[in-house]
Amino acid sequence: MPERQRFDVDSYMARVRTHPCFICGLVAGDPDFAHHVVFEDDFSIAFLNRYPTLAGYVLVCPKAHLEQVTGDLPLADYLRLQTVIYRVSEALRRVLDVERVYILSLGSQQANRHVHWHVAPLPPGVPLEEQQFAALDAERAGILVMDNAQVSDLAARITAMLAQVKT
Ligand SMILES: [Zn+2]
Repeated sequence: MPERQRFDVDSYMARVRTHPCFICGLVAGDPDFAHHVVFEDDFSIAFLNRYPTLAGYVLVCPKAHLEQVTGDLPLADYLRLQTVIYRVSEALRRVLDVERVYILSLGSQQANRHVHWHVAPLPPGVPLEEQQFAALDAERAGILVMDNAQVSDLAARITAMLAQVKT
């Protein structure tokens, strides 16, 4: 089993309530908000979750600061984003040993307002009671400990595979 560390939910909540939008910071190239990006075009960006409960946990976002998952996205833009999510999911299935891919949009008007989709690959062998929401709950599951070289290598493999996913 991979090593995990406790997720400090209190300091995380304090950070996301007070900091500017981290996705806009990433898009603007602010080093404080740097992430391992796996895909980027003029409309969207996909990157590895900095606090992964599952290896290969990717967030997919429009680059523009939009907040309502359907309300702020015309259908064509929504479907364009879904195409990126599909490609990320298929890349994850080909790069990692995946039993099931979870795809969902969360966020909050009190924090993390910028709309984003979670694409999270569940590996085989996780007991039923530790799957689904339990597998995504950082406070319950803990955060995977991966060094920078491991994360960079994983991001590079996902990026390379994404280029091969046809839509
Ligand atoms: Zn934003």
